[in-house]
Amino acid sequence: MRRINPSRFQVATRGTGREINSRIVLNLVRTHQPISRADLARTMGLGRGAVSLIVNDLLKRRLIFEGATGETVRGRKPTFLYIDSRRRAVVAADIRVTETFVMLADLLGKPLTGVIAFPTVRDPKALVETLAARIKALLAEHPEVDACDGIGVVVPGMVEHSTMTVLHAPTLGWRNVNLREPLLAATGLSVQIENSGRACALAQMWALRADTAPAAGDLVFVSVSDGLGVGVIMNGEVLRGRHNIAGEFGHVPLSLDGPRCACGSNGCWEAYVSNRATLARYFGRPLTHASGPEDATHRQFTIEDLIARARASDAKAVAALDTTARYLGLGLASVINALDPARVFIGGEITLAWDLIEGTVRAAVAERTLTPAAAGTDIRPVAASEYPRLQGAAALVAAPAFAAPVVA
Ligand SMILES: [Zn+2]
Repeated sequence: MRRINPSRFQVATRGTGREINSRIVLNLVRTHQPISRADLARTMGLGRGAVSLIVNDLLKRRLIFEGATGETVRGRKPTFLYIDSRRRAVVAADIRVTETFVMLADLLGKPLTGVIAFPTVRDPKALVETLAARIKALLAEHPEVDACDGIGVVVPGMVEHSTMTVLHAPTLGWRNVNLREPLLAATGLSVQIENSGRACALAQMWALRADTAPAAGDLVFVSVSDGLGVGVIMNGEVLRGRHNIAGEFGHVPLSLDGPRCACGSNGCWEAYVSNRATLARYFGRPLTHASGPEDATHRQFTIEDLIARARASDAKAVAALDTTARYLGLGLASVINALDPARVFIGGEITLAWDLIEGTVRAAVAERTLTPAAAGTDIRPVAASEYPRLQGAAALVAAPAFAAPVVA
């Protein structure tokens, strides 16, 4: 028998609905599959009959399926339960300032296809047309997918949660842009839009095994790309704030007279740490934000190229990365002092150089955090090969179905 820590799950009692237990079962299957009915009953402290009722309902709704038979010493062999994501997919889209990435994932966020990429057009109308065409082509190429549950889109900006309007995306120069309705109209699929950092944080919470989640506690995801996005999960909830800007540490100043940021202010953390900032530092040119020749250079010479040069002992590349690492650590210290999370995840191409920068990052964190314990906060890179932003986009569509609601 496998040991499962049940403390994550509060079992519904009188006055709470079967739907809640149903979601808890779904979540336990997701995080522990394959799992037997007996294990579910034991973990939830419910009778076998009650669990069977819920399981049968989920089987009928095709949310789970019965797979291989388990091994027992004697007696009836249990059948194992799995999440049924065999022919269901979600579309994950990651809009960045230079390029947009799209893939199909299953309901657990596992990629079903390779990732396609195309240049981001800044005109929202033209971008939606291109994106819709790419999505339709991708689904047509994969007729084995019976049902697409929707499109999750992550953007480098602040998003109004109820309408999913992009309130402000500084690097794209967008204000109050509505992508949701036109994308829905063009594809016929439901659309979820969220800030990339927040979606990444959600995906990390969602992907955690249930039995490690209590130890993980509050978490922060720092996504370093063309800009710098931060997502915060506190008490199991995505932190949004009253005006949907909670967690925008990327625009907290490190210095009032620092480089000009895409948001119009000077010296924001983002203006020191983003890939564009690192490249500008390497080339010894000011950080600029207009689309034009600079963008063309960015496409020709990327942060990955810079990291490759650093590995080949290009002293300027090593210095540019090391300076970014120091600023990354100083900003992380502010995040840790402000929120004191259990764990900080770092995503983005910069993680390819984690072995080169980790020491500098941690030293800068230690320099500015307020206690030795805070200085030792768990900081983990998330490999770019895991596509954390696309995982985040997939989670926007898939995670709500599995979310175990908090039972008061
Ligand atoms: Zn800024």
